[in-house]
Amino acid sequence: MPEGSFEIPVLEDLFSGRQGVIRYAKPTSVDEALALLGEGAWRILAGGTDFYPAQGSKPFRDDVLDINGLAALRGIAETGSHFVIGARTTWTDIIRHPLPPAFDALKQAAREVGSAQIQNVASVAGNLSNASPAADGVPALLVLDAEVELRSVAATRRLPLHDFILGNRRTALLPGEMVTAIRVPKGATTGTSAFVKLGARRYLVISIAMVAARLVVENGIVADAMVAAGSCSVVAKRLVGVEAALRGLPSDDGLADAILSAPMGELSPIADVRGSAEYRIDAVREIVARVVLAAVGRMTGDEVAA
Ligand SMILES: Cc1cc2nc3c(=O)[nH]c(=O)nc-3n(C[C@H](O)[C@H](O)[C@H](O)COP(=O)(O)OP(=O)(O)OC[C@H]3O[C@@H](n4cnc5c(N)ncnc54)[C@H](O)[C@@H]3O)c2cc1C
Repeated sequence: MPEGSFEIPVLEDLFSGRQGVIRYAKPTSVDEALALLGEGAWRILAGGTDFYPAQGSKPFRDDVLDINGLAALRGIAETGSHFVIGARTTWTDIIRHPLPPAFDALKQAAREVGSAQIQNVASVAGNLSNASPAADGVPALLVLDAEVELRSVAATRRLPLHDFILGNRRTALLPGEMVTAIRVPKGATTGTSAFVKLGARRYLVISIAMVAARLVVENGIVADAMVAAGSCSVVAKRLVGVEAALRGLPSDDGLADAILSAPMGELSPIADVRGSAEYRIDAVREIVARVVLAAVGRMTGDEVAA
């Protein structure tokens, strides 16, 4: 066990039948972390902003692997082919790091995650791994064709983000694995982007619906369009019908008209305390129109929020 690790004695647990100790470990190298993950079931702790609310006042039943000592996993690096966002990179890191305009949607999403205090500690990888339908980071990373890097002692694999998040609180993470990075192919970092979130109030709110869009405009024509919506289906979705409707159109206010009649069959919103399914469907179409116009610079942030 790494230095700084400790064991907490636990009484016999009526539910799991477990008796003995809960281990807490804070490794300082990725290899050490992977070795621990390979020898038993650990719950990974990053910024803790989903981890602790989910834990509440329940007794701990799982060993805790605190990854906050893994300096190598924090920050954004550039390779010849990818932008690589380390798994411990926080939302504040995203906001502060100079990135191409295609990342503006991700930066705008980052500013919407809770408050500045949350953004300072909460990680992008934690947002994806928590797999909430309302995770603000997912649509903005879907329009960047992001992939998730998963490592275990035995192997490294990379999954497209849409194959990583399988459902509400379900991911493709296998026992012994952790997310080590989020990779954005440079081919998907062309164009300009925007993100819009609808909540019951302006700040510190869970999304009723949120949309990210990235558009590539050449000679005044939409050459490519990537649009994704969250909180309107179990997993955030790319809106392929909207994307198809936008391609080839002049980059002007007429884009909003095309969105009014574009298919959005991917969405199947639920009704909850934040809004009915019908409200979400109506609202998301309006948000898609606003975010697309914002992405191509035909709507300002103030107009989008009005
Ligand atoms: C007050 C408050 C407001 C919030 N507002 C928003 C909001 O507006 N929008 C939003 O999207 N979210 C919001 N959140 C949720 C949360 O802040 C984000 O989802 C955050 O990005 C989670 O990151 P974390 O580092 O804190 O993850 P943690 O809480 O440490 O972990 C979350 C989950 O991911 C797993 N995990 C973490 N890192 C890894 C890894 N590297 N590999 C494998 N599994 C991993 C953990 O085991 C856990 O299951 C809010 C939370 C709070 C407390």
